[in-house]
Amino acid sequence: MSDSIEKVKCLIIGSGPAGYTAAIYAARANMFPVLYQGSQPGGQLTTTNEVENFPGYPEGITGPEMMMELQKQAERFGTDIRDGWITKVDFSGEVHKVWVNNEKEIHCDTVIVSTGASAKYLGLDSEQKYLKLGGGVSACAVCDGFFYRNQEVVIVGAGDSACEEAHYLSKLCKKVTMLVRRDEFRASKIMEARVRKTPNIEILFNTETEEVLGDGQVVTGVKVKNNATGENQIIPATGFFVAIGHKPNTDIFKEYLELDETGYIINVPGSSKTNIEGVFVSGDAADHVYRQAVTAAGTGCMAALDAERYLAAKETEVEV
Ligand code: NDP
Repeated sequence: MSDSIEKVKCLIIGSGPAGYTAAIYAARANMFPVLYQGSQPGGQLTTTNEVENFPGYPEGITGPEMMMELQKQAERFGTDIRDGWITKVDFSGEVHKVWVNNEKEIHCDTVIVSTGASAKYLGLDSEQKYLKLGGGVSACAVCDGFFYRNQEVVIVGAGDSACEEAHYLSKLCKKVTMLVRRDEFRASKIMEARVRKTPNIEILFNTETEEVLGDGQVVTGVKVKNNATGENQIIPATGFFVAIGHKPNTDIFKEYLELDETGYIINVPGSSKTNIEGVFVSGDAADHVYRQAVTAAGTGCMAALDAERYLAAKETEVEV
């Protein structure tokens, strides 16, 4: 093996709650984890304002602060946290190979994939502006709905996620306006029916967002257009929720790991194991159902324990 190839016992890819929790457990089990942070250190939570639903923070904490705390905790036990982007993997052999920034090659006994998923947004300038300002644009009703109690909100999307989130918001908000770009839902009939029979959800079909309106700080409304009639309308709202799907960050693994039709990694039920021995998955890269920081952290713990047990079993094999 060339001197330039580094060998690590446990490589963790991704720096959200799943990756950091895996790192805390792996470091405490003497696995000397190396964690690559990826392009968005801290993951999706760094785009969230206040996190009030992670147990242990009775007053809440901002997403970026929570990720700093998790990073510090992982470092305290010796995790080697590095900048860098894993650009390629080769899981075809017993040694799992990964490349950082297309250059550095690392050979790993175990790999924990915690690359997460990215919420899709419409891509409008006004949407991105208020998202960055933390002024009322969100892609997670469970995370942020609480901040809009008794207020009026708009949600975009017509799939199961949009229906579930619209229904969740309807229990908190005075009114939810749902923007559906076609004249029908994509969601399952049962989810659609639930939304249709909720009195404070108004569904606007054939309706697309033209602009998220605001006062420069926070959202105040949404300008929409009916794509059948061409008519514009302004809907007053303090929150603009986008529920048009997520994209799991799993492209580099698709040659080796089993993925579902959307790209989520398929894990062995009840564990973090993938179809490749020694490669484990945690967090949103394998979860299109819960997608919460606390569930990601839980599966990060599972992945580190599974990796530790895998290594222990291999060492026993060698001794026998
Ligand atoms: P989907 O891809 O199923 O739906 C995305 C929705 O967003 C579609 O209605 C689509 O419209 C709409 N959309 C996409 N782009 C735009 C845009 N630019 N402007 C306006 N609307 C847009 O994603 P989901 O996240 O809803 O679901 C993903 C998977 O997870 C599905 O398989 C779903 O069944 C599953 N799921 C299951 C749940 C459950 O069973 N409890 C809960 C949540 C998700 P169009 O229809 O016109 O393409």
